[in-house]
Amino acid sequence: MRKHKYPTVYSRQLIIALFILTSLLILGCGLINPATSTPPPQDGTLTVLFLDIGQGDSILVFSPGGRTMLIDGGNSSRDANEVIIPTLQAHGYTQLDYLVATHPDQDHIGGLVDVLQEVPVHYALLTGQEHTTQTYENFLMQVSRLKNEGQLTPVQARRGTSLELDPALQVEVLAPDDEAVESLDTNNASIIIRLTYGTVSFLFTGDAEAEEESWLLAQGDDLRSQILKVSHHGSKAGTGEALLNAVQPEVAIISVGEGNRYGHPSSQVIERLVRRGISIYRTDEQGTITVTTDGNGYLVTSEK
Ligand SMILES: [Zn+2]
Repeated sequence: MRKHKYPTVYSRQLIIALFILTSLLILGCGLINPATSTPPPQDGTLTVLFLDIGQGDSILVFSPGGRTMLIDGGNSSRDANEVIIPTLQAHGYTQLDYLVATHPDQDHIGGLVDVLQEVPVHYALLTGQEHTTQTYENFLMQVSRLKNEGQLTPVQARRGTSLELDPALQVEVLAPDDEAVESLDTNNASIIIRLTYGTVSFLFTGDAEAEEESWLLAQGDDLRSQILKVSHHGSKAGTGEALLNAVQPEVAIISVGEGNRYGHPSSQVIERLVRRGISIYRTDEQGTITVTTDGNGYLVTSEK
C-alpha cells in the first residue's frame, strides 16, 4: 500500500488546498468526457451496489459500457480496504471514472483517501464546501496532490453540472446550488444525482434533509425514480411525504449500520415507506444490496 505523509501544519495546508481546489474547480466546470480505458464488458447491464459498510454510504455504479462511479466512501480506511476496493476488483475493474463525495461528513468520505491512494480516479466530483475536519482536509489535500500530478481532474458539483459517464446513461446533478454550499450545513448541501437508464431511474440523495428536499421540489424536476437511496440513513429529518409523492419509488434502499447510535432509520420514515407499499432494503439487515437493470426491468438482490 502506498503511504502518503501529510504535513503537520494543517491549517496552512488547508488554506493552500482550498485555494488550489477553488481555482481548479472553476476550471473544471463544463462538459466532462469519459476517461479512456479498457473496461470489462457489462453486456448492456447497469449494476448499482449499495455496499454494506456499516453506518455511512458507499455506492458503486458499473455502467452498461463498463464505466465506473463511486458515490461516497464509507467511514474509514477499513471500509475502503475491506469492502470498496475488493468489490471493485471482484467485478474486474481497476480504476474509477468518477468518484463522488456527496458532502464532507466522515461517514461519506472516511474511506476516500485510501481509495484515491489505491485506485486511479479520473474525475472527483465534490462541492468544495468549507469544512474543517481532519478527514476532509486529508481528502482535499489528496485530491489536490493528484491534480498537481496530472492524474485526476476535480469537478465542482452544482445543479446542472454535466457528467458524461456513459452514453447509454443520463446522469443529472440536481443539487446543490451555491447558496446551499455557502450555508455550511453539510447535509443540506449534499450532491443529489438522478441516474437514468432507459425507463429505469435511481435517485441518490446523500444526507439531504427537509430543507434540501423542499428546495429540490421547488425546482420542478421530474424526480420519478423506481429506486430511491433513502437520504441520511433513514433519518426522520428527511424523506418527507412531498418528496415521496414526487419520486414515487418502488424500492427504497437504506444504508445504515446495525445498532447505530443515531437511531437510524427512524420508525416514521419506515412507516411512510410501508404505507406506500414500497419495498425496503437495509444494509444492516441484508448486507450489500445490488440492483441490476437492462433499462427496461430491474432486479434487486441482497447479500443476506
Ligand atoms: Zn451520513
